Amino acid sequence: MAITEKNKHNTDNEKGLVFHIIHGSFVDGYGIRTTVFLKGCPLRCAWCCNPEGQASYPELKYTIKDCNNCGRCIDVCPKNAIKVNPLLEKVQIDRKLCDNCGACIGVCYTGSLQYFGTYYTVDELFDIIKKDEQYYRSSGGGVTIGGGEPTFQPDFTYAFMKKCQENYIHVAVDTCGYATTEEQFRILAEANLLLYDLKSLDPNAHTKNTGVSNEIILSNLKMLNGMGKSIIIRIPVIPRLTVTNENMEIIAAFLSRLKSLERVDLLAYHTYGTIKYEQLGRKYKLSTQANIQELTEKTKRIFERYGLNVQLGG
Ligand code: SF4
Ligand code: SF4
Repeated sequence: MAITEKNKHNTDNEKGLVFHIIHGSFVDGYGIRTTVFLKGCPLRCAWCCNPEGQASYPELKYTIKDCNNCGRCIDVCPKNAIKVNPLLEKVQIDRKLCDNCGACIGVCYTGSLQYFGTYYTVDELFDIIKKDEQYYRSSGGGVTIGGGEPTFQPDFTYAFMKKCQENYIHVAVDTCGYATTEEQFRILAEANLLLYDLKSLDPNAHTKNTGVSNEIILSNLKMLNGMGKSIIIRIPVIPRLTVTNENMEIIAAFLSRLKSLERVDLLAYHTYGTIKYEQLGRKYKLSTQANIQELTEKTKRIFERYGLNVQLGG
């Protein structure tokens, strides 16, 4: 959509909660990109590697290896949520008592206690991504807004996207597709490129593994495809949960009917997010002994038989 004075968005006051920014990414769309990760997501995927992106508020991050057990945090916690674990000789946090007030962060000089999540205004975030502009121009890249789920902060995401587009910066939105309001859907409708996650075509499996039905996700995908949007489908390859020997052909047939589809990215299962579960005081419950590489390559071969352009990795 062309940017006109009428649809130019007022970016002054919007604030968004960001938990990570990656400069120089090659895996979040075309060219060299800056990827901004926003907090908040309506899904709870069993394999999620960004658990710090799920909640829509800043969360206490505790990195035990950096703690020197000085005890300052214990003294300031108004909820008495911090105690010393005599076995580990490190403090531990009772997450049921903690309300993420941040008092302990202010006295932790080792950086062991921090927040997952920093608030930025649209203009502050734009100033950060603008520094990489020459890389976007030389490589055909741009900004990718991911998360979490970027439509979960619809006003901020829309305003930030418009600010980039007004400055001729290409915007990809990495989405789970669970957009239930007009404000959320217009982000998908007006992005330059969609990185659209597809976890399962089976509604029961989708609900079981992500916490929500795939009905809205598939209906939005069909609508965006009908609008001619540029779409890259991203499929997490999680043995037995997303891709199986039984459903590969069904998924391939479904995707081959999407006229707007430019590529399919197969994202192999990994456990790199485990440390972040520990930092949040949570447990990562999923484990698999399956041969991921074999499953991913087999999926690629079958998808290619259906004429799909497939890439391993994002
Ligand atoms: S203030 Fe930081 S370094 Fe000191 S005990 Fe608490 S977490 Fe550990
Ligand atoms: S964030 Fe607040 S409530 Fe939670 S452990 Fe730190 S001081 Fe206590």
